[in-house]
Amino acid sequence: MPGGMPGLDEEALMLRRILGPLKGLRVFRFSVLAGLLLAGTVAAVAAQDIRFFRVGTGSTAGTYFPVGGIIASAISSPPGSRSCERGGSCGVPGLVAVAQSTRGSVDNVRQMRDGSLESGFSQSDVAFWAFNGQEIFKQEGAIANLRAIANLYPETIHLVVRFDAGIKTVADVKGKRISLDRKGSGTRLNALLVLQAFGLTEADVEGVALASGSAADALREAEIDGFFFTAGTPAAAVQELAEEALIDLVPIDGGATEGLLAGSPFFARQVLASGTYPGIGERETVSVGAQWLVAESVPEEIVYEITRSLWHPSTRQLLDKGHPKGAQIVLENALEGLGVPLHPGAERYYREAGVLE
Ligand code: GLU
Repeated sequence: MPGGMPGLDEEALMLRRILGPLKGLRVFRFSVLAGLLLAGTVAAVAAQDIRFFRVGTGSTAGTYFPVGGIIASAISSPPGSRSCERGGSCGVPGLVAVAQSTRGSVDNVRQMRDGSLESGFSQSDVAFWAFNGQEIFKQEGAIANLRAIANLYPETIHLVVRFDAGIKTVADVKGKRISLDRKGSGTRLNALLVLQAFGLTEADVEGVALASGSAADALREAEIDGFFFTAGTPAAAVQELAEEALIDLVPIDGGATEGLLAGSPFFARQVLASGTYPGIGERETVSVGAQWLVAESVPEEIVYEITRSLWHPSTRQLLDKGHPKGAQIVLENALEGLGVPLHPGAERYYREAGVLE
């Protein structure tokens, strides 16, 4: 507890001592006074000791949300936690981080611009377009306050289809009922680019806009034929359907993907190993980086501490145990393919760690 602030028990005692002599006052006065005193002390504790820090993620059926939850708990160390040296939390002292469910990358970068999120996950393509005011950010303008903490793991562009929908190639989605995800997702942008690469537009499909979890439900009910989802494997929305043997994954490969890959340095070919999802063999597709961004206005010292705790050995265990994609979050790849500049606090950490010259 810094600055000689009293602990919570001491505070309660203090309050009791102050409030004790007021017993004779009418009840409403007592409660008003107690309320004011309590509000005052709680605010003082909050202002000095607790810093809330939001991490914008994606839909709860995706990968951003569970990985964001692991990271949020790793970097948190609320006042009163046991110290790292004594086997307690190795997060940032006083920091309470929360993973918030959102619509995905586009929503996250916009909320960082507007100040309703301190940090958020974003695909590297979306981060780059936002920072440079390109593609869907042309009209609203560049989001110049985006900075990077780290590149995290590769995300896979999934085209998930009902096994009996008669869709074997991307071109087969013509005329089918396909969810392209909601506006605000990065998935939607990738879905449109994939359609374009295969000579199709949004008008060629009967498009619906569902979050991944709702898309999975709709597919199960045969209300849609398929859905796009850009997410780290195994994404919960896809995993459950695969376990129920309801789906196939359509390859995003061949000559048509050349244009897609040439159009953005952030896309890479990816071969999903057989069994990544139960019952589904090896599939060629395209991947894009998942990155953790932070608003430029978050103080250097805080971002330095957050970066330090992200790469602390105790976080390693949480990441390895928490999600298969967590194991792929490694310091060696932290600076790979960043779509926006590093935050100065993160940069200082990487220099000290010898990862950055
Ligand atoms: N990449 C997706 C998006 O920005 C979200 C992926 C996830 O939720 O894991 O829409």
